[in-house]
Amino acid sequence: MSWSKVHSDPDVYEVRVPFQNVSTSATNCFVVMDGGEALVVDTGAPTEEGAAVLDAALDEIGVERSRATFFLTHLHLDHAGLVDRVAPEGATVLVGSADFDAMRASGASAYERMRRLLASEGVSLSDASGYARHSVEMPLFDPARVDVRFAVEGDEVPVGGRRLRVVEVPGHTPGSLALFDPASRILFGGDHVLFVISPGIALFPDGRDGLQAYLDSLEKVRSLGCSRLFVAHGDERADFEARIDWLRAHHLGRLEEAQGIVRSCPGLSGEEVVRSIKWNVPFERWEDISFMQRWCIVMEGLVFLNHLVDRGLVRRDEDEAGVRRYF
Ligand SMILES: [Zn+2]
Ligand SMILES: [Zn+2]
Repeated sequence: MSWSKVHSDPDVYEVRVPFQNVSTSATNCFVVMDGGEALVVDTGAPTEEGAAVLDAALDEIGVERSRATFFLTHLHLDHAGLVDRVAPEGATVLVGSADFDAMRASGASAYERMRRLLASEGVSLSDASGYARHSVEMPLFDPARVDVRFAVEGDEVPVGGRRLRVVEVPGHTPGSLALFDPASRILFGGDHVLFVISPGIALFPDGRDGLQAYLDSLEKVRSLGCSRLFVAHGDERADFEARIDWLRAHHLGRLEEAQGIVRSCPGLSGEEVVRSIKWNVPFERWEDISFMQRWCIVMEGLVFLNHLVDRGLVRRDEDEAGVRRYF
C-alpha cells in the first residue's frame, strides 16, 4: 500500500506518490481529515503511475473530492503536477503568490532573461541555454479550471473543525509555504527542510536575496516549537531541529568558502567561483558532472554570490565583454 496513517488528532495520512529523480523516489503527499472534510497537501509528479497511486489512495482514505481543499507547498513539478488529475473542477487550490507569478511568467521572456543572466555570469552559451530551459517552470496545472487562492502568512486553512495556519517559508522557491496546526504543533514543511538532500535554494526572479530568505525561514520554523515535521521527500525523523541547525551551518560554511575564493582569486566570473567551491559531488572535470547536477550547482552558487554582494561582502563589476566579475 502506498499510503499510511501517520498521525491521529488530527488524522493525517501520508501518500507516497512515485517520482524518480536524483535524490528521491517519491513525493510524500499528506491528507488531513476532519469531520468529513479533507485537506490535501501537495499532489505529486504528473506520471500515469503517480496519478493512479494518488487517485486510489484518496479513494481508500475516503476523501470526498467535492469536500477537499488542495494546498500546494510550492509550485514544483513533483508537488503541483497532479492537480489537474485529482482536483475536481472549481476546487479550492491554495498557493503562494510568488510561485504562481513565476509559473504564469514562464515562457519565452523568462527563458531569455535567465539565459542572459547566466551568460553574464560566465556560463557558456550552450550551458546557459540548457540551464535556462530547466529553470523556467512549465505551467503545472490549468488555473482556470480550479479556484486558485493565494495564501499568506497567518492565514487560517479550515478543515472540519480544525484551523491550520499558513507559514511562509521562502527560499527553496520564492513562494514556498508550510502549514502548521497550532493545536497539535505538527508542520507540513514541503521541501523546506529535508533529510535526503540539502534543499536547493532558488534564484529569485525579483533579485531578492534567496539565501537570506531561506535562512530566515529556517529560523522561523525552528522557533515554532513543532512536535513533528512532515517532509515531502524521504522519511520523517525526530531530530529535525538538529537538521535545521545543520542546514544553517552548512550554508554559512559554504558562504565563507565562496567569499574566501573571491578573496584569494579576485576577478573570477560567477561560474568560475561556483566551480571552485567544493560541492558534495566528486568530480575531476566539471564536464564529468551530470548536466542536471551542474545546473543545480550553478543556480545555487549564484544564489550565494548574490547574498555576498547584497551584504557588501564581495563586489560585482561587469567587464567590457559584459561578464560579471567578483572582487
Ligand atoms: Zn521543490
Ligand atoms: Zn520536491
